[in-house]
Amino acid sequence: MRECVRCQKVFVEQVVRRFDQIERIVQFCFRGVDVRICGLSNKVCSACIEREWIERFEQEGETYIKICDGQIKVDWKLIEERWSQDLELGRKIFWGFLRDLGVLTKEARGHFILCVFSDGAFPRDDRLWPSDYLYFTKHEDAVAYAKEAYKDKDWKVWQVMMGG
Ligand SMILES: [Zn+2]
Repeated sequence: MRECVRCQKVFVEQVVRRFDQIERIVQFCFRGVDVRICGLSNKVCSACIEREWIERFEQEGETYIKICDGQIKVDWKLIEERWSQDLELGRKIFWGFLRDLGVLTKEARGHFILCVFSDGAFPRDDRLWPSDYLYFTKHEDAVAYAKEAYKDKDWKVWQVMMGG
């Protein structure tokens, strides 16, 4: 039991075990889609995390990601256009919103990875892998992203069948 630094209410955090690590998780439904936020600190209660996520999404995410009736529609073209002027955007959108919404994931198995042959199979793509890899959960999103980000290159989307 802890006291939230935002609202001062006492709360119990929900945790999941991932490999040998315990990770705090907050899950909620937003406009019909599941939002799942991992790797949180223990200082803020779930209600405040949810409220702040929604505020942030409405200010910074909604331009690029439309959520309506349980459907997520990502504007990969707009993200690509803005990316060169706003390098922070990749981190906010890719490692923040798209991961929380399950469009991208750190889990490889069964998910999709993008290969760009002219860059030696795996591109150095700071949006998807500044240090760790992000995989697409849907084939169509990987293709839509590749079409915008690697227009003039030969790319292929692979489904990862092995790994963790
Ligand atoms: Zn709170």
